Amino acid sequence: MSETTLDKIVSLCKRRGFIFQSSEIYGGLAGSWDYGPLGVELKNNIRDFWWKEMTQLHDNIVGLDAAILMHPRVWEASGHVENFTDPLVDCTSCKSRFRADQIDLEEACPVCGKRGTFTDPRNFNLMFSTHIGAVKDESSLIYLRPETAQGIYLDFKQVVQSSRVKIPFGIAQVGKAFRNEITTRFFIFRSTEFEQMEMQFFVKPGTDDEWFKYWKGERMNFYKKMGISPDKLRWHKHGPDELAFYAKEAYDIQYLFPMGWQELEGVHNRTDYDLNQHQKFSGKDLNYLDQETQERYIPYVVETSAGLTRNVLMALSDAYEEETLEDGEVRTVMRFHPLIAPITVAVLPLVKKDGIGEAAAKLEKSLREHFATFHDQSGAIGRRYRRMDEIGTPYCVTYDYQSLDDNTVTLRYRDSMRQERVKIDELVNKINYESKNYKRIGGEV
Ligand code: ATP
Repeated sequence: MSETTLDKIVSLCKRRGFIFQSSEIYGGLAGSWDYGPLGVELKNNIRDFWWKEMTQLHDNIVGLDAAILMHPRVWEASGHVENFTDPLVDCTSCKSRFRADQIDLEEACPVCGKRGTFTDPRNFNLMFSTHIGAVKDESSLIYLRPETAQGIYLDFKQVVQSSRVKIPFGIAQVGKAFRNEITTRFFIFRSTEFEQMEMQFFVKPGTDDEWFKYWKGERMNFYKKMGISPDKLRWHKHGPDELAFYAKEAYDIQYLFPMGWQELEGVHNRTDYDLNQHQKFSGKDLNYLDQETQERYIPYVVETSAGLTRNVLMALSDAYEEETLEDGEVRTVMRFHPLIAPITVAVLPLVKKDGIGEAAAKLEKSLREHFATFHDQSGAIGRRYRRMDEIGTPYCVTYDYQSLDDNTVTLRYRDSMRQERVKIDELVNKINYESKNYKRIGGEV
């Protein structure tokens, strides 16, 4: 099996319509990406998988969709205005800019190779700012949110008052976040505009360690359920120098991306820091009243914070495989779990003539209610299978002469390339069953 490189993934994404460089015809915009027809399906499927896991499979989590633009005081209270910075250095010779923590300042500039040309590090705030209303002055300054979590804290009290939730409970949210990142290499890994899937779980102080442990377990299981290779997932504990000043404990789930182990999601014990800050800055009482014991307290928060777009890169990296077949041919196959694959079923007529093309089109139409489908009748059947392998379609259904006689079709499995005859009447149940019980097998089967 040959090595999966980021270049191969970038090229497949462009070729097959997963991800494009934003504004490409104008030369592109660094750190900005567009999700094409297949990419948006993949991203939505991962988002829906997460949403279902959080809100439907946990009876103590409710959803929220807060605005991207918030009152500017929010970011003073949260500490972002003061602390959300990266240390930057410039090369005075070639004018390249780097994050001081990502290069060796004693060494030569990685771009022009000159020595001793770096400026002193200075702090650079990662928040994008803009102005609201017609007048551009200090009073109209607002920020594009750099994380979705703060919207959840601001609405904490309103959710408690309106939805009968009781501590312990969580609020889940998926949405865009923006950071003025300086190093945006590695494709969509670190973008200026990205999406997060965050859940803030509010607990009684003193029970936070227990809940922290619980959520660590749940989050790692999530990725295994999504079919991600377990040997490419690991925990990284934040040491004292990495831990955010307000956090009590923090772990990252890391994934072995083509460029190495990198953070995928953070599980953080944020204590009562954020709610306390918002209580202080807003002057509003954000205490929780326990109806049974009449106790009042500011809850602790256990946060699970995953990048949705970073999850897309993880899913692409994990699925990508170049498999050498018995006859020496190499096929590129994306082994997505059927629950996240952009297309679930492709219906392929063996030939177009003799009514087979029409019958296959009719069958494909009848499957649309149940699955994301695709109909492809151009080219040799083998080539059509390869095209589906390359975009990760787990099931191909082939309609042939026998189908006209006995109402059966060939069901072909992407991973093993095994084929079997299935009655058309049983197709929906069969595919549903196979998707639910999917186990990834190696390319060698
Ligand atoms: P990093 O150290 O990689 O910059 P972080 O520790 O600042 O990330 P958090 O603030 O904890 O990240 O954000 C939570 C999650 O949001 C990350 O685990 C990651 O998946 C995602 N994320 C953060 N920044 C970006 C970005 N610029 N592009 C894409 N995803 C991001």
